[in-house]
Parts: sequence; structure tokens; C-alpha cells
Amino acid sequence: MDDKLFRAAMGKFATGVTIITTEIDGEVRGMTANAFMSVSMDPKLILISVGHKAKMKEQIEASGQFAVNVLSNDQKEMSMIFAGQKTDTHDVEFNYFEGLPVIDNSLVSIACDVHNSHDEGDHTLFIGKVKNIEIQDGDPLAFHEGSYKQLQEA
Ligand code: FAD
Ligand code: NAD
Repeated sequence: MDDKLFRAAMGKFATGVTIITTEIDGEVRGMTANAFMSVSMDPKLILISVGHKAKMKEQIEASGQFAVNVLSNDQKEMSMIFAGQKTDTHDVEFNYFEGLPVIDNSLVSIACDVHNSHDEGDHTLFIGKVKNIEIQDGDPLAFHEGSYKQLQEA
């Protein structure tokens, strides 16, 4: 099957947008990701899927922890910065939550320890054990058919 068909099909599944953050040796790193899901209530587990070519894979393996920041609809620029879609340099300021860097004004920041990881094809699935969650009101940034969208009531 060709990649274009697979991407077109997966792109029909509308998602939110997150930035995965972590820190190694005092350096903060971030990566935009929409492959995120809730896994288990007891214990509280979540999942992210990180491509083997992404630097974030080694960064999470080295730090053993990460945060998932669910973006609000006014954070499209943040998503573009951390997807490498904006090439000029950007100084992003991070807050700290449970010892992890997090993106200011996200709808949700979920601080996790790596609970498990599974290599599947060209991605690694990281299972995060949730340490703590910060949440605030607002509308999410959405991603559908390769474009950023805002939600509307059905
Ligand atoms: P880099 O290329 O090093 O970092 C990514 C970008 O973030 C760079 O431009 C870098 O300058 C910037 N950056 C990093 N840290 C900082 C910092 N501290 N301050 C300022 N800027 C910084 N890929 C996946 O593997 N899984 C997914 O689920 C996924 N979902 C995506 C969803 C969307 C909507 C989009 C647009 C892309 C998605 N990607 C996903 C692709 C992924 O975001 C890019 O391939 C990304 O560039 C990979 O980053 P990297 O870890 O290799 O790190
Ligand atoms: P797109 O049209 O490539 O993405 C549509 C959907 O296809 C995504 O939501 C995702 O579900 C799937 N997808 C895309 N690339 C994938 C990959 N390499 N592995 C597994 N699933 C993938 O959207 P776009 O705006 O062209 O994306 C911008 C860049 O971000 C592209 O380079 C794309 O490959 C990458 N991206 C990667 C993932 C991922 O690795 N899970 C997810 C989204 C976007």
C-alpha cells in the first residue's frame, strides 16, 4: 500500500494536538505529537507514539520521563515550532510541573514516568505512568486532513 493512501486515511481521524516535553542535562526539548491516547484508569496510564527518526525518542529514553501538553486553539504557532514547521529560532519559556518542563497555557499538562515502551514498526510506543495533572478551561486545537482546525458544536 502506498504511504499517501495511509496518511490520507489516518488524516480523516480528527485529533487534538499535544507537545511532548522532557529535559536532559538541563536542556529542555519538545516535539509536536497527535498520537496520544488514554490507556488505563487503574493504574493511570497514557500512550504516545514517537517515530524512530525523531530525536525525542532518545531524549525520552535518556530522561525516563515526559510531559504531554494538550494545546488550546490559540497555540497553533507552538505546534508549528515543535513540529519544525517554523524554521526561524524561537525562545520558548517553560514552566515546571512535577520537575518537568511544561508549555504555558496548555489545556492540560500530564507529567509521566516511562512505565514501559514497545518498538512497533518505525515508531516506539511509550506508556506513561501519570504522576500528576494540571488542567485549565479552554477550547482545543484540532488536527484533521493535515490541517489545524478549531472545533464547532455539532
Ligand atoms: P527536533 O526536530 O529537534 O525538534 C522539533 C522542533 O522543535 C525543532 O524545530 C526545534 O527547533 C523545536 N524545539 C525543540 N525544543 C525546543 C526548545 N526547547 N525551544 C524552542 N524550540 C524547540 N511525530 C511523531 O513521532 N509522533 C506523533 O504523534 C507526531 N504527531 C504530529 C502531529 C502534528 C500535528 C504534526 C505537525 C507533526 C507530528 N509529528 C509527530 C512530527 C514531529 O512533530 C516532527 O517530526 C518533529 O520535528 C520531530 O522532532 P524531533 O524530536 O526530531 O526534534
Ligand atoms: P499528514 O497528512 O502527513 O498526517 C495525517 C495523519 O497520518 C496523521 O495525523 C497521522 O495519523 C498519520 N501519519 C502521518 N505521518 C505518519 C508517520 N510517519 N507515521 C505514522 N503515522 C503518520 O499530516 P502533515 O501535516 O503532512 O504532517 C506533518 C509532518 O508530521 C509529516 O512529516 C508527518 O509525517 C508528520 N506526522 C507524523 C505523525 C506520526 O509519526 N505519528 C503524526 C502526524 C504527523
